[in-house]
Amino acid sequence: MDLTTLTIKELSEKLRKKETSSVEATKAYLKRIEETEGKVHAFVTITPDDALAMAEAADKRIAAGQAAPLTGIPIALKDIFCTKGVRTTCSSKILENFVPPYDATVARKLKEAGAVILGKNNMDEFAMGSSTENSAFHKTLNPWALDRVPGGSSGGSAAAVAAGECAASMGTDTGGSIRQPASCCGVVGLKPTYGRVSRFGMIAFASSLDQAGPLTRSVEDAAIVLQAIAGHDKSDSTSIDTPVPDYLAGIGKGVKGLKVGIPKEYFIEGMDPDVESAIRKALDVLKGLGAELVEVTLPHTQYAVAVYYLVATAEASSNLARYDGVKYGLRVNQTGGLLDMYKRTRDAGFGDEVKRRIMLGTYSLSAGYYDAYYKKAAEVRTLIKNDFDEAFKACDIIATPTAPSAAFKIGERVEDPLTMYLSDIFTISCNLAGIPGISVPCGFTKDNLPVGLQLLGKSLDEETVLRAAYSYEQAGGWLGRRPTL
Ligand code: GLN
Repeated sequence: MDLTTLTIKELSEKLRKKETSSVEATKAYLKRIEETEGKVHAFVTITPDDALAMAEAADKRIAAGQAAPLTGIPIALKDIFCTKGVRTTCSSKILENFVPPYDATVARKLKEAGAVILGKNNMDEFAMGSSTENSAFHKTLNPWALDRVPGGSSGGSAAAVAAGECAASMGTDTGGSIRQPASCCGVVGLKPTYGRVSRFGMIAFASSLDQAGPLTRSVEDAAIVLQAIAGHDKSDSTSIDTPVPDYLAGIGKGVKGLKVGIPKEYFIEGMDPDVESAIRKALDVLKGLGAELVEVTLPHTQYAVAVYYLVATAEASSNLARYDGVKYGLRVNQTGGLLDMYKRTRDAGFGDEVKRRIMLGTYSLSAGYYDAYYKKAAEVRTLIKNDFDEAFKACDIIATPTAPSAAFKIGERVEDPLTMYLSDIFTISCNLAGIPGISVPCGFTKDNLPVGLQLLGKSLDEETVLRAAYSYEQAGGWLGRRPTL
C-alpha cells in the first residue's frame, strides 16, 4: 500500500484503526520526496527530523485516543507562513536567512491539531506571480509536464500535493494564488472568505486581499483542513468573530435545486478551447445532478485586473517597506551611511517583479496620483463587490473556469508581465470582493494538462462552496488521478 496516494480522510482512518502509524506515513512521504523532488523542486526547506518527532508525538496521541482529524497527517506549508525555529524565506533573498521566533496562527493551529509538517514549499517571491518562476531560489516544475509551470504563487504547494510529496499543503491567495496553481496541477484549492482564517504570522503581500487556505487531493480534505485553521484570532484584527460551522456536516447533501450562476463575462475570447469544453462538461454534470444553471452578469469584471494591480501593488509597497536591512534578514552593509544601506539592501534583496510592484504601488499612492489611481481603484472595487451581491440574489453559487488556459511553458510569460497578470483574470474578482472560492479538477486538455472548475460562494458560505464542489467531484470522475513521475 502506497501511503502517499491516500487522501487525508483515508490516511486518518488507517491511523485510527492502527493499520499504519504516523511515523510510517511520514517516512513514506520523506522517501517520496527523495524520489521526486529532484524533478519537481517543490520545497525550499525540508525538515525530516522535526517531521519524525511530530509523527512520534502524533502516534502517542492516537494511542491515547485523543486524535483529531489531522493528527499524524504529513503536510507542508507555503514558505510564507512563519514557523518558529524554521527558516521562512517567502522565496526572497531578503529573507533568505530569516528564522522566525514564533509560529503563524495557521502553523500553530495545524501543529495543535497534530499535523506533521514536512517542510516549506517554494513560491513566487512575496507571493507575486502566477508561475513560481519569481522565486529567488529555483523554479518548481509541473508534475504533469516537467517543461511547464505549476502555476503560482503557491506553485510549490500545488506541485507537492500533485506529486504525492505531502497529503496537503497550505497556500495563500491574494488574487488567485491557491486556486490557479491548484487548477494547473490537478488538485483542489480553497480560498476562504477574507477574514475566516487568521493572517497573523503570514508574511503580508496585500493585506486587504491575502487569505490562507488549503491545497488538497479532495474536497473533503479541504473541508477537514479549513475546519482546523478557521476562526477568530485576537492577533488579527481583520479575522471574523463568528462561530465556525461544521464544514463536513452538510458536504454530501447534493446540489438538487441549487442555483448555479454562470457569468457571461467569464467565457471570453482567447480562452483555450480545451478549457472551455472541460468547463461546459462540468456544468452539464452539475445540471445532471439537479442543479439549476442560471445566467448572471458581473458587469465590472473587465476592470478587475486593473483594480487588483493598483490595490495590491499599493498595499505591497507599504508592507514591504519593513525590509530595510535593520529589522529582518539581509543587510548589505557599506560605509555610505543609513540611506545607502537601505538602498543597497533592497536592491540586492528584492527580485525584479517585487521591485516593479513597489514602484507601481508607490507611484499610485503618491500625492498627485492618489486620487486618479488608488482612490479610483478602491471605488471600482466596491462596484465589483456590488456585482457579486446582485448576482447572488439570483443564484447560490457562481461557476467559472479557474484560469483561461492550462499550465503554460516555463519561460513563456516571464518577459511579458501583462500576459502573466492575465493568468488571474478569473480569480482576482473573488479576492476584491472578499468571497470564498474553490478550484476543483474537472478534466484534462488534449496535452494531458489538468483543468480546474472554479466555484465562488457568498461571503462566509464555504459550506455551499464545499457541498457543490464535493458533489461535482464525486460525479466528475477525476478524483484520485496522479501524474507519473
Ligand atoms: N498572480 C497574482 C499576482 O501576481 C496573484 C498572486 C497571489 O494571489 N498571491 O499578484
